Amino acid sequence: MSWLANFVRPKIRALIGKKKEIPDNLWDKCPGCGAMLFCRELEENPHVCRQCGFHLKLGAEKRLKLLFDDGAYKNIALPKVPADPLHFRDQKRYGDRLKEARAKTGNQDAILAGEGGMGGIPCVIAAFDFAFMGGSMGMAVGEGLIAAARRAVELDAPFIAIPASGGARMQEGALSLMQLPRTIIAADEVKQAGLPYIVVLTDPTTGGVTASFAMVGDIHIAEKGALIGFAGARVIQNTIRETLPPGFQRAEYLAEHGMVDLVVERKDLRATLIRVLGILLNRKESDAPLLLSGPVPHGARSAQRI
Ligand SMILES: [Zn+2]
Repeated sequence: MSWLANFVRPKIRALIGKKKEIPDNLWDKCPGCGAMLFCRELEENPHVCRQCGFHLKLGAEKRLKLLFDDGAYKNIALPKVPADPLHFRDQKRYGDRLKEARAKTGNQDAILAGEGGMGGIPCVIAAFDFAFMGGSMGMAVGEGLIAAARRAVELDAPFIAIPASGGARMQEGALSLMQLPRTIIAADEVKQAGLPYIVVLTDPTTGGVTASFAMVGDIHIAEKGALIGFAGARVIQNTIRETLPPGFQRAEYLAEHGMVDLVVERKDLRATLIRVLGILLNRKESDAPLLLSGPVPHGARSAQRI
């Protein structure tokens, strides 16, 4: 028995262990059409379904690489904040949730900021990572946005904020709500310096983020199909006791109703931002009107010009 236990069993365990090394995330399911998508293919086509064009969520680092020239940028150091100031606990300790999210994403919190060139224009971009606790905005995210906005002012460069967030971070209570006015002031500092402040609304942009810096941009660009709203559709429906129209709180619906300036596909986002920045900074190469790319929402003008 000892030979079986000491020699054969570990061998079998090693074999099973080796099998587990094969990554189980080779495939992802498209939430739009249900198609099974090969992850490597998704990486090549920045997380957009080839079958139906559904825009899946994109991590902050990939987002920054996608936008900056040659994917090159310098990380902006974000201030450290006190961890778990309220010693909050629900089913798990907030401190443990933070540790898990850090291990999962490799980031300190739900925001990354970088400085670099976009079409040769120096700019600062702050992008949210939805994979980090639903992109929720606590003190770290608030401080991160403020640091990024101030860096933009320091560099005399435009500031682009890219939220992907469920809203305020409940585990930080009132401290997370304080980030709403603070991030508004950060955006205002960019405007006071006469610099463009652009918001790229991605799926989802909801709750406290929509109620703060995300809705005060000079230009609001939304990614195709993104959910953008404050309260959830079910809450609104139950409150007003009316059936909501189709496409409610989606990027295209908001563009039709004047809350969003442009709806773009991810593949066109970088080129669109370069054009918009060129226009706002009075660059000569941007004299031609900017046309809305991609499918035109029902009832919208055939082409939007800005
Ligand atoms: Zn699909």
